[in-house]
Amino acid sequence: MAAVMRLVNRGTLSSTMGQQFLAFSSAAKAGARAGQALPEKVKIVEVGPRDGLQNEKTIVPTETKIHLIDMLSASGLTVIEATSFVSPKWVPQVAKRLYSMGCYEISLGDTIGVGTPGSMTEMLQAVSREVPLNALAVHCHDTYGQALANILVALQMGISVVDSSVAGLGGCPYAQGASGNVATEDVVYMLHGLGIQTGVDLSRLMDAGAFICRTLNRKTNSKVSQATCKL
Ligand SMILES: [Zn+2]
Repeated sequence: MAAVMRLVNRGTLSSTMGQQFLAFSSAAKAGARAGQALPEKVKIVEVGPRDGLQNEKTIVPTETKIHLIDMLSASGLTVIEATSFVSPKWVPQVAKRLYSMGCYEISLGDTIGVGTPGSMTEMLQAVSREVPLNALAVHCHDTYGQALANILVALQMGISVVDSSVAGLGGCPYAQGASGNVATEDVVYMLHGLGIQTGVDLSRLMDAGAFICRTLNRKTNSKVSQATCKL
């Protein structure tokens, strides 16, 4: 994928905002099931409080972040990314090294959103020669409207951990008006439509999205929220 690959070590999430600011991390278990087109369950990693808010123009007070994390956690999301680890550039070599260092979950990020299902497939094929698929997650941006398609292809290849950001928080800081992270609401809607379990309550998740959008005085980037007139 012609994009920046970002690696996140979920195991090293650290707290700078108090006790609630934790990663409720459980080991990525599902993994690829041979002969099955789609995973039964997908773990969603909510990146809104880190990746999302970090790229918003408005500075968000700590209490607001904590409140958002609480609401997200109440919706059933079990992994909430709070801080990033490193930003090395070269995948799959770096992925291989991290994996051998004990990093149990490696998030492959298309953070400028230029990837397509074709390049996603190629990238995953290359990385899966170095690292088992059940240690990989995908992090797609929707800048070119490809995020859900890219995620679907990754699921078909056996990936069962997906990063997304509530309300699609986190526009690309370099391109005016470009959309950034794929919205968690939209990912959950697609997964549930495919009969894949996520453990997330979509309507509570949408409440969390509405809360943070009101606070930031911005519109949601979630198509699902737009369609259901939550905002
Ligand atoms: Zn992102």
